Amino acid sequence: MMQRALRPSVLIPPGFDVERAVCDGATTVITVRPTSDKSLCPGCGASSGRIHSRYQRCLTDLPLAGRPVRLMIVARRFRCVTVMCGRRIFTERFDDGALAPWARRTARLDLLVHHLGLALGGRPAASFARRLMLPVSNDTLLRVVRRRGCQPFAAPSVIGIDDWAWRRNQRYGTIICDLERRRPIALLPDREPATAQAWLSGQPQIAVVARDRGGG
Ligand SMILES: [Zn+2]
Repeated sequence: MMQRALRPSVLIPPGFDVERAVCDGATTVITVRPTSDKSLCPGCGASSGRIHSRYQRCLTDLPLAGRPVRLMIVARRFRCVTVMCGRRIFTERFDDGALAPWARRTARLDLLVHHLGLALGGRPAASFARRLMLPVSNDTLLRVVRRRGCQPFAAPSVIGIDDWAWRRNQRYGTIICDLERRRPIALLPDREPATAQAWLSGQPQIAVVARDRGGG
């Protein structure tokens, strides 16, 4: 099997080139540049390559060799060249799969944080995240889970209802999963039957409900 040298760009999200990487003891700071020379205007969808100015975005990425990683992105503002478009200038857009427009974490770190939150609940997840060198607060964790939990979903027909710990042994909510697509689709603030009933009444197409919760 042919061996290839490890390029620094394979360590970071796709669509960027590494400009330099420095380690200031506790943290690794990687400065990156977008590889594309164009970006899509969020107003009209047209592609523009006319750079207006540059600015810096700073995001947290997955830890590397036991150290937290800060990604410094030299991002750009572009001019929209579409005559009828209301946006004259827009900030560079990246693939949402790599990083969302105003995100402070890369999408792959966000996903990890989301799964930690789902698996362990707020505070235990935050302390475990610290051990994994993912600097994320309890509040951030809950926000990530709620935000991702609110994403639009395809109407499910087979769902599972279970308890979900906002705080282990203290505060419980309800998690609803689409069992066919195998993903969580809703987090309800408590485990009252009436709350779940209200949610269910908005989804009349549901044919099968599997319950795996104590009481209620
Ligand atoms: Zn435009």
